[in-house]
Amino acid sequence: MSALRDRVVLITGAGSGLGRAMALAFSRAGAIVVAADLDETAAQRVVGEIEAEAGRGLALALDVSQAESVAHAVATTVAAWGRLEILVNNAGICPLTPFPEISRAEWEHVLAVNLTGVFLCAQAAFPHLCACGHGRIINIASLAGRTGGVTVGLHYVASKGGVISLTKALARLLAPWHGTANCIAPGPIETPLTAAWPDENRELLRRQIPLGRLGRPEEVAAAALYLASDAAAFVTGATLDVNGGIAML
Ligand code: NAP
Repeated sequence: MSALRDRVVLITGAGSGLGRAMALAFSRAGAIVVAADLDETAAQRVVGEIEAEAGRGLALALDVSQAESVAHAVATTVAAWGRLEILVNNAGICPLTPFPEISRAEWEHVLAVNLTGVFLCAQAAFPHLCACGHGRIINIASLAGRTGGVTVGLHYVASKGGVISLTKALARLLAPWHGTANCIAPGPIETPLTAAWPDENRELLRRQIPLGRLGRPEEVAAAALYLASDAAAFVTGATLDVNGGIAML
């Protein structure tokens, strides 16, 4: 499949979980993948996997909460490949801290990574997404941002709710340049993030999922591929639920 042949995509948090799955899926669809992560070694491992399949990629160190780091990642992408057509804002953290115990510093850190990070990356990428005439922003939000969450921290819930609203505003801004911005709201997916949860949390969620299991990273990647493709050119400002039916919104 080469639906994204030669498209240049920057994926944040690409060293693990959903980001890694999307990096591999986008590469298999023909895209050139810039895999950026706080953990540069993890990003390099993913690019190694891409190159082993004869794909093209570049690994970058990136902290999405730092404007200079984001500017560097976007500039390096454009210097290497001459363009940036798809931005996947995937990097995120998900502390489970109970509401009364969330410090102001922890609140601000979660917002800085999960919400400000999306803003900074979108702002830095925006001129390039406009210039190509078919720009795409795909933000990885969360079911928790739609429903209020069950097991996750309230700061996480607030950050993901913010991502959903921000996506709608970005969709309006990109539209004059024939670009789109959409969210994916995954339910519980098998990644290192959820693997670290207590078994009882995972089991509680699994029992509520009509399809009877947690999702696979590849199933989120398939949704991202669709939103990045020309087939989704008229889909914008949307939130695509990939959640096994745990919430039908
Ligand atoms: P993951 O396996 O923990 O991967 C997240 C990646 O983001 C890690 O490589 C992490 O690096 C990186 N990262 C963290 N902070 C960063 C920063 N400031 N700048 C750049 N990269 C950073 O988690 P995942 O499950 O794949 O989650 C990916 C996204 O999906 C997150 O936004 C998450 O909220 C969302 N999501 C996940 C689920 C789920 O069930 N898995 C459900 C709904 C939404 P380090 O390892 O070095 O921290």
